[in-house]
Amino acid sequence: MQNIDKAAVQSFLYRQIEEWDTAKNNYEALKRVKVKEFDLGGAIVKVQFNPARIVSSAAKVDTKSLKERKCFLCEANRPAVQEGLEWGDYTILVNPFPIFPKHLTIPANEHIQQLISGRIADMMRLAKVLEDYVVFYNGPKCGASAPDHMHFQAGNTGFMPVGEWLHSAKRLNIMHCGDGRLCLIEKGMPQSCFVIEASSVESGSRIFDRLYSALTIPEGEPEPMLNILCIYYAGVWNLLVFPRKKHRPDCYFKEGDDNILISPASVDMGGVFITPLEKDFEKIKAADLQNIYDEVCLSLSEVKTIADKIK
Ligand SMILES: [Zn+2]
Repeated sequence: MQNIDKAAVQSFLYRQIEEWDTAKNNYEALKRVKVKEFDLGGAIVKVQFNPARIVSSAAKVDTKSLKERKCFLCEANRPAVQEGLEWGDYTILVNPFPIFPKHLTIPANEHIQQLISGRIADMMRLAKVLEDYVVFYNGPKCGASAPDHMHFQAGNTGFMPVGEWLHSAKRLNIMHCGDGRLCLIEKGMPQSCFVIEASSVESGSRIFDRLYSALTIPEGEPEPMLNILCIYYAGVWNLLVFPRKKHRPDCYFKEGDDNILISPASVDMGGVFITPLEKDFEKIKAADLQNIYDEVCLSLSEVKTIADKIK
């Protein structure tokens, strides 16, 4: 596997932003996006008004629409100006529609379905390679705008409030395995989730497999609905697993004033909601955000029921 270090990723990112007009314009525009903050029971949550993200928030991800469009993650369909850094079976790309000041997309080299099973070790290794980034995974029905092409994304650390939440969150121990443990967050975050802490890829991926097998796979779907954030720092991985029960909240489909175009994915789980439409940014309230978490995420008692199956 090619050895990629921090400096190589940094210079690649800056070079692409310089050379590629779409990326340049969108990264420039990102510096001027409006951001609001809300307090959800002590957890600070941000809302970012980001018009360029309409391509993702309103993406049609049904089978027919996917078949009719050219996959933008396949090398053959990428613009000539877009370069990649090879990393094993994946390629590191600059995301031209950023949410983070540094935003990467890491597709598999092969056009293969978005599924996390068998790839959590890749995700952990990638988080170590991209040490200043949080690596994240959106399930095919949980925010991925290319569910037909396996990919991770990564955004610079210090941007999503979830890092702060974790400092004060109350963790409940579920089980240990090797140098790792599985916990669930009981308090301190606006939604419930699992956290895997591990000092090795082996322990982390074994715990993930145990958790994964305890999650329900909806009928007709290839995997449990979930978002995953992976952070590597000082020799320890933290994998945050957010089981989901809904793809898009009701407000996404409502007409008129009740409509809010938010299609929650990992970044929203990490505490940054993206509104591509200004009308939503202006009217949104803390209660709307809490409702979205309550609607698309599992409740604490539902998460505890899953934990009981693992113990
Ligand atoms: Zn593809």
